[in-house]
Amino acid sequence: MNSTHNNRSVQSIIPPPPTHFVGDGFKVHHFIPDYYLSMERMNPFLMLDYNAPTYFPPTETPRGVDVHPHKGFETVTIAYQGKVAHHDSAGNSGVISEGGVQWMTAASGVLHKEYHEANWAKEGGIFQMVQLWVNLPSQDKKSPPKYQSIDHPQIPQVNLPNNGGHVEIIAGLFQGKKGAASTHTEVHLMNAHLKPGGEVEFSFSERNNTALLVIQGSIEVNGNQEAHANHFVLMNNDGETFHVKAKEQSIVLVLSGEPILEPIAAYGPFVMNTKAELIEAFQQFERGEFGNLE
Ligand code: MN
Repeated sequence: MNSTHNNRSVQSIIPPPPTHFVGDGFKVHHFIPDYYLSMERMNPFLMLDYNAPTYFPPTETPRGVDVHPHKGFETVTIAYQGKVAHHDSAGNSGVISEGGVQWMTAASGVLHKEYHEANWAKEGGIFQMVQLWVNLPSQDKKSPPKYQSIDHPQIPQVNLPNNGGHVEIIAGLFQGKKGAASTHTEVHLMNAHLKPGGEVEFSFSERNNTALLVIQGSIEVNGNQEAHANHFVLMNNDGETFHVKAKEQSIVLVLSGEPILEPIAAYGPFVMNTKAELIEAFQQFERGEFGNLE
């Protein structure tokens, strides 16, 4: 792995912020936006919540988040352990199972609710999940809502040399192979499953905002920066290529996206370009224009 110059350097390794609950079902480290990681710095990634492995006891009443709106962006939910059931006002519903991803394009506006899946909740267990918000360009904020349900077997994989593990491509490109989800702008999102000593190189356009979240295990980036589970590795925009080596069995979420060079006006579940559009979004929501959901 010395053939390529690792020219994208690490900016900082960010420890997990204290957890808080979203509804009663998601106990998350809120990495984006935070003191170190503004929406602008991580553009087009607006928000990242990580529910590190957490035990939820059995219950007949599934925990989660009740009906709420979204407008102007996409929510991407990646299930590592446990199952999430989803219903939205566009008539879509489904279950995100282990290794699966839900890519919901809220765009012009949708209501949805997100709960632990009922049968899983009855058994209880360890729950582990990421929710990422991806911004949309201005013209796509007006499009109708869309929903991509991607089960684990539908996610393309690339095996790494020397039995080092594999990379699952949720979106974008890895070694010329295309990911499962369609996106509106250049977004690369993948899970690297690395065996102890497994190595992989990633290469993304220098302008792309790029980061890693260590989901499990511990890694070494560019041969000298160590990052452990639940830590977020922010890469500089000073080159394309960087190298990851697993010190033990590891899973790493890799995100890289082309910044959308438009103003960001964000408040709660709405992300638009101007304050006037935000106010309009609230008015539409209050008039019931995002549809109905019980
Ligand atoms: Mn939501």
